[in-house]
Amino acid sequence: MPSALAIKVDVDTEVGTRIGVPNLLRLFDRHGIAATFLFSLGPDNTGRAIKRIFRRGFFTKVIRSDVVGMYGMRTLLNGVLWPGPHIGKRHAALIRSVRDAGHEVGIHCYDHVYWQDNLFKMNRDQVFAEFEKANTEFKRIFSESAHTAGAAGWQTNAYSLEAYELAGIEYASDTRGTHAYYPRVGNRIFNTLQIPTTLPTLDELLASPTCSRLSLGKFYLSSLRPDDLNVLTIHAEIEGMNWIEFFRRLLTRIGETGFRLCRLQDLAVGYLTAPVSAPVCDIVYGNVDGRAGMLAIQGTM
Ligand SMILES: [Zn+2]
Repeated sequence: MPSALAIKVDVDTEVGTRIGVPNLLRLFDRHGIAATFLFSLGPDNTGRAIKRIFRRGFFTKVIRSDVVGMYGMRTLLNGVLWPGPHIGKRHAALIRSVRDAGHEVGIHCYDHVYWQDNLFKMNRDQVFAEFEKANTEFKRIFSESAHTAGAAGWQTNAYSLEAYELAGIEYASDTRGTHAYYPRVGNRIFNTLQIPTTLPTLDELLASPTCSRLSLGKFYLSSLRPDDLNVLTIHAEIEGMNWIEFFRRLLTRIGETGFRLCRLQDLAVGYLTAPVSAPVCDIVYGNVDGRAGMLAIQGTM
C-alpha cells in the first residue's frame, strides 16, 4: 500500500453544510485533493445535544473545545427553539456540487443527534427506517444509490450493519481502528468492508487536558504510518470553519512528506477488487479520549 491518508469529511450540521463545505471545496481545489464527504441529510437538531452538557464530564469538554465558538449559538438552538432545518432539502444543489467537483460522497446519517443518542435504544425496524430515510434523501439528491457511509458519532451495531448490506453499501467507516476489516458483531460477519478512522479528530485533541495547540500539527505528522492505513476524520463545522487555517497548513505539511491525500474509495478499492483480503474483526465498544460516550472500535480478529 503506498503511503496515503484518506480525508473523511463528516458534515454534521446545516451551518457546516452551508459554510464549511464550500470552504473545504475551495481549499481542496487549491491543493488538488479529492476527499470523501459524508452528509447529514435530514433535520439539523444539534440543539438537542445540549442535554449532553449535563452529563458528567462533558462540561469540561465544552469549555476546552469551545463548542459555542465552533458551532455558533444559532446551531446550538436548532431543534430546540425552532424546528431543525432540513439539510438535504435546503442544500441539495450544494451537496450535489461536491460530487461534481470530483469528491466521493456518502451517507453520514439522517438526523445526527437522533442517531448518536438513540441507536442502541432502537429496534431493528427503527434502525432500518432511520437509515432508509437517509438513503432515500441521498438518492433524491444524487439520482443514484450511495456506495459508502460512515455512522454519526461512530455509533454502529448489528442492525445498522444489516441495513448497510441491504442498501448495497460496499464499504463504510463507522469505527476507530488500525486496519481494514470485515466486521463481526456477535457471531454474524457482515460483508460491508470497514475502513476505520485511524487518527484522533481535532476536537478530541482540543478536548484533551494535555493538548497544546502549538503541537497539534506535529502530532498529526508523527502519527502517519507509511505503507499502512491512515484515515483522518475532519468536520465541516471545525476544520471547514474556525480551524481552516490550521487545516490548510496541515495539508501543506502532509503534502511535503510525500503522503498522498485521497478518498476512502482509493483505499477500499485494493480490498474490493484485488486479492488483498481483509481480516474479520469484532466490533467492540469503548471510550475514546476527548469524546463523550462509547464508540465502536475495531477489536481482535
Ligand atoms: Zn458526525
